[in-house]
Formats: sequence, C-alpha cells, structure tokens
Amino acid sequence: MSNEFSGSCLCGEVKYTLSGSVQSFFLCHCTRCQKGSGSSNAANLFSRQGTLSWLKGEDNLTTYRHPNTLHTRCFCRTCGSALPYYLSSIESVVVPAGSLDSYCDLIPTAKIFMAERAAWFTKLNNVACFDTLP
Ligand SMILES: [Zn+2]
Ligand SMILES: [Zn+2]
Repeated sequence: MSNEFSGSCLCGEVKYTLSGSVQSFFLCHCTRCQKGSGSSNAANLFSRQGTLSWLKGEDNLTTYRHPNTLHTRCFCRTCGSALPYYLSSIESVVVPAGSLDSYCDLIPTAKIFMAERAAWFTKLNNVACFDTLP
C-alpha cells in the first residue's frame, strides 16, 4: 500500500513524515526488542522505497546500534520514544508503529522471533480487558 504517514514522539520534540509504500509490518519478540521496548515486542513497519522527512527535532535523535547485529533503535533524547530510522543493510525505512499519528489499520505481516518470546506472553485471550485503568 502506498501512503503518507506522519508521526511524532511522546513529548512532541520530534515530528516526521514517511511517504512511500509499506511492504511488511513485523511484531518482533526477540530478546533485544524486549529490552529496547520494555515490553513483549517491537512493532515496526518496513518501507523499502519510503522517504523519511524530519519536520522537527532531528537533532534531538539518538541512535543505538547493538554490536554485531542489525538491531537498531532510534529514539528521542528527551522522552525516549522509539522513532524511525533508515536501515541501509535492507535499504528500508523502519517505522515504529506506535510512533504514528496517522491512523494505521495495516494488519501485521507476522510475529517473528517467537522462539525468544517472553514467558508471560501466552494465553492472552484469557486476560481481562478494561477500556481504561480498572
Ligand atoms: Zn520526545
Ligand atoms: Zn527484535
């Protein structure tokens, strides 16, 4: 699908647009994404021909590349929110789904690295749900 997306970090210091098509949308459950996200998984869109434009705050970005892996995390220096980055090895822009302000109803392509998933990421259909804080 071809589209234009906009996004920002939690504190609002950084804003961007992505124009281009999204080929895949992976929920990554590897141990590195668990550490980086503080949660069960990262959720990233991959855009091979995408153009990433920073509207503001580009100088407020920090990028961490984990040694000897492709694992990269770009984030706002003020609030720590995950933000997009260009991953040259796969010639794609990687966009954290949670950073989008645009409505996004893309269906995830796959859950990956499920062999490394958190032990507690299981039987979630039986977990109580609340629309707000219970
Ligand atoms: Zn921020
Ligand atoms: Zn991962």
